[in-house]
Amino acid sequence: MINHHPDENLLAEYSSGSLAWALSLSVCAHIQLCPHCRQKVSALNKIGGVILNTSAAETCAPNSFENLMQRIHQKTTTEKAAVEKTEGEQATKIAAAEGLNNAYSHDPLLNRLPKIIEKLLPINGKLKWQRVSSALKTARLTAGQNEYEVAFQRISSGGKIVEHDHRGLEITLVLQGSFSDEQGIYSRGDFLVRTPGEIHRPTATLNQDCLCLSVVAAPVKVTGFIGHFINPFLSIKPA
Ligand SMILES: [Zn+2]
Repeated sequence: MINHHPDENLLAEYSSGSLAWALSLSVCAHIQLCPHCRQKVSALNKIGGVILNTSAAETCAPNSFENLMQRIHQKTTTEKAAVEKTEGEQATKIAAAEGLNNAYSHDPLLNRLPKIIEKLLPINGKLKWQRVSSALKTARLTAGQNEYEVAFQRISSGGKIVEHDHRGLEITLVLQGSFSDEQGIYSRGDFLVRTPGEIHRPTATLNQDCLCLSVVAAPVKVTGFIGHFINPFLSIKPA
């Protein structure tokens, strides 16, 4: 059961399309796992539609629609060829995405990902895991933006992560397994927001490895002696 959800502000910003892309990605992935928030966003979308319908119309040039249609009909042969090429490339990408499950089928943690996260996996199984400590591996994901680092965090069963602080906002979405910290226990679908100054030490439960999606605005600072050695591995690299 999911116990931790994005707050009303995040859902409203997501619904209106004003949320930064990386944050939007994490909210969307949560919504794909959470019927409760899916329902809320659907209601917010309806409210947004009503507001648009009842807002005063913006004025535009009287012939703007005709101009637009004219531009569409004037598409040159070269442009059409470019569109066909793009469509061909998209078809290749879709075919590759359909084969994605096969590429990662050896790893049970990557088998039940929300669709939006599955699309971030590199084709052909070339996800690069980096060992941060004996309990933690991380794999950075390319999310097409430069504000946040989007990554998988994989904690081995029973593994403890060194105590760390947050210098910026960090969103964690549990995708598989579960972990606990000083404030509670979190399982698949739980959505957590950590703000700067919150120090915590997550521990995966004993029965299985835990996979989380993390979206981080600034580098995580590992506290304590061991942090001196580990911090260089946690430097942010948005992509
Ligand atoms: Zn929810």
